[in-house]
Amino acid sequence: MTSTSSNRSGSTRPASSAADAPPVGPAKNPEAEPVSRDPRPNLLDFTLKELREFLRPWVDRPFRAKQIFRALHHRRVTDLQGVTELSLSMRQDLEMHVRVEMPSLVRSQRSADGTVKGLFELEDGASIEAVDIPDGRRRTFCISSQAGCPLGCKFCVTGFWGAGRDLTPGEIVSQVYTLLGQEDTREVHETGDLPGINVVFMGMGEPLLNAGAVRTSVELLAETIAPRRMTLSTIGILPALEEMISWPVRPNLAISLHAPDDARRTKIMPVNRTHPLRDLMALLHRFPLAKGRQITFEYILIRDFNDQPEAARALVRLVRGLPAKVNLIPINPDPVLGDEMKPPAPSTVLAFQQELKQRGVFTTIRRQRGDEVSGACGQLRAFARDPRGFRTPANL
Ligand code: SAH
Ligand code: SF4
Repeated sequence: MTSTSSNRSGSTRPASSAADAPPVGPAKNPEAEPVSRDPRPNLLDFTLKELREFLRPWVDRPFRAKQIFRALHHRRVTDLQGVTELSLSMRQDLEMHVRVEMPSLVRSQRSADGTVKGLFELEDGASIEAVDIPDGRRRTFCISSQAGCPLGCKFCVTGFWGAGRDLTPGEIVSQVYTLLGQEDTREVHETGDLPGINVVFMGMGEPLLNAGAVRTSVELLAETIAPRRMTLSTIGILPALEEMISWPVRPNLAISLHAPDDARRTKIMPVNRTHPLRDLMALLHRFPLAKGRQITFEYILIRDFNDQPEAARALVRLVRGLPAKVNLIPINPDPVLGDEMKPPAPSTVLAFQQELKQRGVFTTIRRQRGDEVSGACGQLRAFARDPRGFRTPANL
């Protein structure tokens, strides 16, 4: 007799419908919830531990949870029927209670440099973008954590269009799995590691405003991608950054600094009023880093605003004493950002880098990728509301 049939005849299986599923599973933030007509939980939102707990009433053996989890995150199946380790009847039974839901890729645009930008529609109609950036044998996925951003940085197109809801863990990892799946059939076995794949949380949204889901998604992605190949970029939401210290799996940290002092930072990043530089830097000084790891400081260069040699020297003083590398990003201009948001001349960028290098600060200049498809940093907007409240598809 198969284990499935023994369970079917057993009395432990609740005769419940999806609507009265037990209240175990990922922690929920009510405001972050997508509006879904389907009450069945999405299996992609669960860590393995949560999945074990959640599935207990419906599966015959504890190891079923692991089989399902591995099928989802190692083989990247897109529906329960793909979990062929389970008998057909068990899959059909489970489908009454749970589902596998992934955002639909509604458009993908390829830039001449090979960068692909994907526009995804979520089940409640919200939209997000993610970018796949190939580089030789490596690929970097730049993914979104929110369907917009409420923080309103003056240089950022996502911020210009305003807030959108938080993404669920499943919606976050699906961006990677879907873009990966377009051309990549690598299956990950036992100790799973997808070679050459990097993930950066640098798409739409502020990851630390959606820290619970981002934390889970990092754990899920870590099934196949080493944490050292993931980077979370944040503006520095301090309570969440403090909590990140105790995350079970921690990605690398990139801090969006963009100005060397509070006066200038507050002008372009309103959040600096709540979380000023002094507090941010103090926390970073006690932020534990894995051996050999550094904090990346992202610094957008804006012409005549923060690109002077004096600003470079102030930046050096700010990061002194930290294992830091600075990534200089000449701003990507955009019509919605206005005339002040223009990049410096290339010679000014190099001179700024030189000031830092001379003082021993490791500094790189970010290469522009994917700009023809508006897939460059800060240009992601997905569907946007125009000032009259209409929603217009991106880049039409
Ligand atoms: N909210 C997080 C992550 C998303 S923004 C953060 O701000 O860090 C991702 C990156 O794009 C950040 O480094 C941000 O500073 C950068 N960015 C935003 N607008 C940009 C622009 N116009 N040009 C270049 N980089 C930009
Ligand atoms: Fe939000 Fe980051 Fe854009 Fe600022 S730079 S508005 S925090 S997405």
